Amino acid sequence: MKTEDRKEITNKEAKAGVTKAKSNAAAGLTELFEDGLKDIYWAEKALIKAIPLMAKNATSADLIEALNSHLTETEDQIIRLEKVFELIDKKASAKKCDAMEGLIEEGKGILEETELGVVRDAGIIAASQKIEHYEIASYGTLRQFAETLGLEEAAALLEETLDEEKGADKKLTDVAVNAVNFDAAEAE
Ligand code: ZN
Ligand code: FE
Ligand code: FE
Ligand code: FE
Repeated sequence: MKTEDRKEITNKEAKAGVTKAKSNAAAGLTELFEDGLKDIYWAEKALIKAIPLMAKNATSADLIEALNSHLTETEDQIIRLEKVFELIDKKASAKKCDAMEGLIEEGKGILEETELGVVRDAGIIAASQKIEHYEIASYGTLRQFAETLGLEEAAALLEETLDEEKGADKKLTDVAVNAVNFDAAEAE
């Protein structure tokens, strides 16, 4: 964006409704990139605990397989993120992702709101796809940041993970369409 296209920040706006930045606020895209990496690193680590809980609560063999194979991918994704931190000479560190914490909480809520069986399976797929979509958005942005910053190797690693997240989402759709949702509708 050209500077002239950006609105001038007036003193008045700084007081009214515009969020005041913390003292450690990101000064440039590199820092924003690093913040995003920390966020998704936390999210992936949280998923290492959440996915097995979802798998334990699933009854469809296809769903259990989809969740377990994505757990293995998630382990690889954590290693890939550690490589990206290395590429920018930063120590891998996690910062709580409020969104993923909420999405996982919502998933746990769905478990309590359904009986074990096809209906819970349908709920697990719904919750898992919301998680995958958050990850797709996150990795899509991070890959784009890496490209803009000229970090080609990092961009390639992030794209590899992005493709896995899209694959996981697609697989969950297939399980829903082919194995779970119809049975869940019949269960009423
Ligand atoms: Zn996140
Ligand atoms: Fe992931
Ligand atoms: Fe986040
Ligand atoms: Fe994922």
